Amino acid sequence: MTSEALFREAFDLLEAGEPDRAAGLLTEAIAAGGDAVGYQRLLLAEVYDELQREAEADAELTEALTWFDAGIAELTREELDTLYMVADGEQRGVDLAIGRLRARQALEMLPDELDEIAEQWLDEDESGPAVSSDAMDLLFWPRAEIAEAHRLWPEADLRTDADQVMIDLEVACRQLSEAGVSRVTLVPLTVARVRESGIEPTTEEAREAYLAEFAGKAGSIAWPPGRNDACWCGSAAKYKKCCGRPGLQ
Ligand SMILES: [Zn+2]
Repeated sequence: MTSEALFREAFDLLEAGEPDRAAGLLTEAIAAGGDAVGYQRLLLAEVYDELQREAEADAELTEALTWFDAGIAELTREELDTLYMVADGEQRGVDLAIGRLRARQALEMLPDELDEIAEQWLDEDESGPAVSSDAMDLLFWPRAEIAEAHRLWPEADLRTDADQVMIDLEVACRQLSEAGVSRVTLVPLTVARVRESGIEPTTEEAREAYLAEFAGKAGSIAWPPGRNDACWCGSAAKYKKCCGRPGLQ
């Protein structure tokens, strides 16, 4: 049987209330390869969860995430840029980003920029994807906080390449703005703030809790800053010479 046929049969078994047999078929489907292995692993993780085989569920999720990350890494720069525009839910990469989000959520990882975008597709109703015109608050760790935050909460899986993190966030802001988001606000997380909040960045609810607590409070930065103002990233350089420089990617 092809991977696809095995997958369909596994689905039927699940519906019929036979998760054990479904797990067996899904394992076969995954071993047979094909272009849906990540999605099959996501489903298998759910089945294992149902069977209370947590360690195996986690292993499937980790493998699924590797698969989705590899798929995203294969996208061209243009395809990736378009992903951040939220403009077209049809294009290549959307399913990958959503699958990746599902794996990361199940693994209780802190959402990154791509997750935040993918969450919007998940939230979209029947009317289909639409360009948001709302204001958007984005949490971020300023440069000076990244190393310490990573030391304190290694399991939060924070990215530590500060320069690239800042560039990616700047690019995401520009694309949100181009996509019609009326106001982008950057909300800094600091070790002190996070400690005071009593919510560990490793928890699933952290991101929402931080937004509820810190958005709209002092320290939030309206993006973009003025060209001659200090850069939002905390580098102490002028915005125009730092993250505001042209040709960033
Ligand atoms: Zn900067």
